[in-house]
Amino acid sequence: MAAAARAADLEVDVCILGAGVIGLCTALALLRADAGLRVALLDQSTPCAGATGAGQGYLWMAHRSPSSPLWQFAQRSKQMWQVLLATVPQLTPAALEWQAAGSMLLASTAEDEELLHQRLQLLRSAGLADARLAPAAMVRQLEPALSRGAAESALLVDSDVQLNGRAAAAALLQACKTFGNRFVPLFNESVSSLVLPGTSRRVEAVQTEARRIGATLGVVVALGAWSGPFLAAQLADGRWAHAIQPRRGVLLEMPLPPGMAPLQRGLMEVGYAKHYSLDSRRASGGWPDIDAHSHVSVADITFTACTSASGSLLIGSSREFAGFDSSAPEAIVQLIMQRAIEFLPALAAVNRWQIAVRAGPRPYAAAGFPMVGAVPGVPGLLLAAGHEGSGLLLAPATAAVICEQLLGCSSGLDAAVVDSLRVKVVQD
Ligand SMILES: Cc1cc2nc3c(=O)[nH]c(=O)nc-3n(C[C@H](O)[C@H](O)[C@H](O)COP(=O)(O)OP(=O)(O)OC[C@H]3O[C@@H](n4cnc5c(N)ncnc54)[C@H](O)[C@@H]3O)c2cc1C
Repeated sequence: MAAAARAADLEVDVCILGAGVIGLCTALALLRADAGLRVALLDQSTPCAGATGAGQGYLWMAHRSPSSPLWQFAQRSKQMWQVLLATVPQLTPAALEWQAAGSMLLASTAEDEELLHQRLQLLRSAGLADARLAPAAMVRQLEPALSRGAAESALLVDSDVQLNGRAAAAALLQACKTFGNRFVPLFNESVSSLVLPGTSRRVEAVQTEARRIGATLGVVVALGAWSGPFLAAQLADGRWAHAIQPRRGVLLEMPLPPGMAPLQRGLMEVGYAKHYSLDSRRASGGWPDIDAHSHVSVADITFTACTSASGSLLIGSSREFAGFDSSAPEAIVQLIMQRAIEFLPALAAVNRWQIAVRAGPRPYAAAGFPMVGAVPGVPGLLLAAGHEGSGLLLAPATAAVICEQLLGCSSGLDAAVVDSLRVKVVQD
């Protein structure tokens, strides 16, 4: 392999590793928070090369648990997206393909219906006043494409929204670029190591194949699912590889079949909510053997569907521990389609060649929470990773926590919430 061409070394205040939605939001928040700050954003590829490019884009509260500390984190982040839309000229609803479509959680069995009732009470008591139940007749009136039987009732939240992850990443990058030479995007450049000189182990810089990038204030690891293996190698602590790891997700994009009524809302079967419990890893094949890269676990498939801003259908999704293999096995595509056809029978008319497949590594955190903040024992090193299936929603609040820790500006979150995100290496 040819050696990378040597580029000029750089000095910045903060170097962010990874230009997914977390790295991009963090860069923008830092640039906006401190007019003197110089921020580098480094990616081995281009923005959207990881999970961000595959995500469905639901910014939802309907399937979340109000008893979790993540509830306030998610609520705050959703509000922050609205503030970003109102205050950053590049982040327009059109640029983000923002759709205030609302959400619909579907119950197809008596057990599911019971879950919906419980969920409604929880959401209402947490202050989500627009959460309401719809009986079968109303569900079919709202979404005529749904099959009889697949949706006996539904929980609706009108205030839930969605965006397009790729479009959001592009707009965030545009917004960062307005800061001129205070923003240093470095794409197609991979970080090879952290520079941790002496016994203090304070991070001074990062080393790429091409140069040294000094970071006087700090280095933020926002490498998504790659954060675990990266920290394991850099800190010589194998537990990191278990703490954050890839959980592959596959999403299908296809045209609306002839005769099918367009979907008005984002849809999700109520069983999806289980992914927000610690037990969910068992449903996606148990604890993965991360050393065996050929290992492909049993996939967990749950039905989700929405109409994109361009009018195509986005149908999801799968969850598997399959290492960093970003290909989508044909068997998974077929399983997602089979499940979707149970809900939307008209999809049986879609030909395989009409389906575009997206796959990405959701950054799964073994602790069940994203990790955002200082890495213990390594001054100058911060982590912002492990958002699994919620990174598009949680990016603005994540960025606010990093700003709070680096610059001292308030994130607006309760201390208990910030504490629940504290960086810790855990092993099951
Ligand atoms: C199918 C699917 C559906 C989803 N649906 C939703 C949804 O509806 N709502 C929601 O909120 N979230 C959703 N998500 C989750 C969301 O996409 C992720 O949580 C989020 O994108 C994670 O962002 P990130 O920036 O942490 O990671 P990534 O987007 O993976 O970014 C990490 C970056 O690090 C770079 N990198 C890796 N190694 C190196 C290196 N050595 N040097 C330099 N750069 C490196 C990669 O190239 C990559 O660009 C979904 C995900 C999937 C897969």
